[in-house]
Amino acid sequence: MSGGALVSVENVTRRFGGFVALDGVSLAVAPGERLGLIGPNGSGKTTLINCVGGALRADAGRVMFDGRDVTRLPAHRRARLGIARSFQIPRPFAGMTCAENLAVPLEYAAGLRGRAAVGREARAILDDVGLGARADEGAGTLTQVDMRKLELARALAARPRVLIADEAMAGLAPAEVDEILVLLRRFNEGGIAIVMIEHIMRAVMGFSERVAVLDAGRLIAEGAPDAVMRSPEVERAYLGE
Ligand code: ADP
Ligand code: MG
Repeated sequence: MSGGALVSVENVTRRFGGFVALDGVSLAVAPGERLGLIGPNGSGKTTLINCVGGALRADAGRVMFDGRDVTRLPAHRRARLGIARSFQIPRPFAGMTCAENLAVPLEYAAGLRGRAAVGREARAILDDVGLGARADEGAGTLTQVDMRKLELARALAARPRVLIADEAMAGLAPAEVDEILVLLRRFNEGGIAIVMIEHIMRAVMGFSERVAVLDAGRLIAEGAPDAVMRSPEVERAYLGE
């Protein structure tokens, strides 16, 4: 199933103690694809992303990236290969400036060397996400939407081939949601596959070419956005929430 896929999970299972958070999930992302990943709270979306990015190990199954088995690679090695993710709760280094926050992924994931080069690239990425004027401000002083943009900038700094955005728009006003959508769309036009985990249906359905649905650790539907929304399993999963 991973033929031609950029990222795939194959029969991934993950338990926490006796609780099965992911139960044999298989899902593939094509190069440059826009995939939406939805499901009720606690259905396993973040756990799946953690297994892809390497923050968590799968207990069973495989994670493949670009034809290579990365199941046992630590997160930083996966980041270097091209898997980036943003966190549901942004966690910038609050005591550092926005530009300084990009230095770590630029050096360790993208492999950029030299203070001047890192500084220039950090500024270019901040400009790109609309934070150019904030480059030298402390990350801890940002508004919520700017914090989300910095979180995406940090993911982008790793020069990923896939960016997994875990609820990057949660809690934002509609106009701010649109700003984040524009950014993600632009990254995608640059060739980066985007996996969007999102509860805001207007956002995820409008953005995604394909949608996958998790419920209680199982993949219950996958397909075109409108077809998935009409699926009885999906309706049941959401009504039962
Ligand atoms: P989602 O992102 O879809 O809301 P999560 O992947 O965060 O769901 O969580 C799936 C389930 O696994 C939830 O029941 C959650 O409580 C549980 N879970 C997640 N992480 C842990 C953990 N580190 N330890 C114990 N249980 C966890
Ligand atoms: Mg989550």
